[in-house]
Amino acid sequence: MTDHNTYCTKCKKVLIRDEIAIYLRLVNRNAKEYLCIPCLAKHFKCSEQDIQVRIKRLKEMGCTLFS
Ligand SMILES: [Zn+2]
Repeated sequence: MTDHNTYCTKCKKVLIRDEIAIYLRLVNRNAKEYLCIPCLAKHFKCSEQDIQVRIKRLKEMGCTLFS
């Protein structure tokens, strides 16, 4: 594990692994910069809950980005 955190490019919040994974899945597989869930929800003009549901579904499907 590295000890430097990854931050949301918009609000500078420290990102959790799920937030990075969903960004890779929904926006850009090769991204090096990411958004947190609230900023991602604004980006897609959807609710944060929509994003949470998608994360949950992808985990249930066994998406490797979330492992
Ligand atoms: Zn953010």
